[in-house]
Amino acid sequence: MQAYNTNDPKLRSFIEVPSGHPFPIQNLPYGVFKPNANAPERVGVAIGDQVLDLSVLDGAGYFAGTPLEGQGVFAQPRLNAFMALGKTAWTAARQIISQALDSESPKLRDDVALRQKALYSISDVTMMLPAAIGDYTDFYASREHATNVGTMFRGRDNALMPNWLHLPVGYHGRASSIVTSGTPIKRPSGQTKADTADAPSFGPCRLLDFELEMGLFIGPGNELGQAVSVDEAHDHLFGMVLVNDWSARDIQKWEYQPLGPFLAKNFATSISPWVVTMEALEPFRVPAVAQDPEPLPYLKASYPSTTYDIDLQVQIRSSGMDGWQTICRSNYRHLYWTAEQFVAHHSVTGCNLRPGDLLASGTISGPTPDSYGSLLELAWRGEKPIELTDGSQRKFLQDGDQVRLTAACASDHYTIGFAPVEGSITPADPVS
Ligand code: CA
Repeated sequence: MQAYNTNDPKLRSFIEVPSGHPFPIQNLPYGVFKPNANAPERVGVAIGDQVLDLSVLDGAGYFAGTPLEGQGVFAQPRLNAFMALGKTAWTAARQIISQALDSESPKLRDDVALRQKALYSISDVTMMLPAAIGDYTDFYASREHATNVGTMFRGRDNALMPNWLHLPVGYHGRASSIVTSGTPIKRPSGQTKADTADAPSFGPCRLLDFELEMGLFIGPGNELGQAVSVDEAHDHLFGMVLVNDWSARDIQKWEYQPLGPFLAKNFATSISPWVVTMEALEPFRVPAVAQDPEPLPYLKASYPSTTYDIDLQVQIRSSGMDGWQTICRSNYRHLYWTAEQFVAHHSVTGCNLRPGDLLASGTISGPTPDSYGSLLELAWRGEKPIELTDGSQRKFLQDGDQVRLTAACASDHYTIGFAPVEGSITPADPVS
């Protein structure tokens, strides 16, 4: 069983997966779904245009003899229990699922009755949030993004704050308003103050923005008081999703000093429904950005640091447009701080991370203007509006706009895709 490589490009499933499809047998992302409105939620993997119900495989004894046996983790309405089992269990599950779907393996392929119970068309199921997210932290790990925002607000000479190159800056976000792809985003209202005004006023956000990010789900986590070292950190990472950290820039500008983002970020954060595992991303590891100055020892791995080559796009579609328009092309590898450093830094005080916690990267901007991961940067605070194909311009999002983030790792052999994360802007409540 150890010789079976779930990333082998030669693997094919008996379920047909067209070339370039985001969910080949080498991906096997986990999600929580409802087969119909009355059925309980359960865990599945995406394979091509189908979903494999893992609670059915578990019921048929497929996971006997592994750490999953008798745990019932795939009949749960969220992935937390599976995430908590840790890497040995994840590897065992992935091997069994991959072998079950392998065209060379007759066990499931030839079991017509079980296949009928276990497979659904992906278009027929409803995707739920993959995890009960107890805590959500958002980092600020793109040097380009931090430099752009700092340049706009403090000038290029003081763009990066003195701490930025020494620690991964972050803030504790709001977990309760994390929603899955497709959930409409209501324009928030709040308190803002124009530079020229004497006093603040209350009303709908006028500078609504997206942020292109990715999020990491925590696996087993750590006990309170027990830090996770940077060398151990990788084993605590279960998988990744796309994250859109919707942001109200005018609310943010007035409220953020001295304690950072608050209501500007707490009204909604959208994530993609399928969690791509670190094991599926393994072939797409690349060297991390060189760090200068050298980080303090607790942030410095004993091995060469790596990150992931994941192509990212932001697309927009106004109510007047026939199709999507790509307005940003970036890549996860541009981030300065690594996922392992997020975990080591977050827990170094003894803060306990728990299964299902979400650590988001911060806006992932690249070096070129077409790779900036927010409208604030793409339109440079409104000075360079984005031209849309319907003839309109965007400095910030308008009601009716849809935003879609996409992510994929492409090799010569197959694509590891993420499900897109989408959201549309609906009008603010009337202010009485
Ligand atoms: Ca953010």
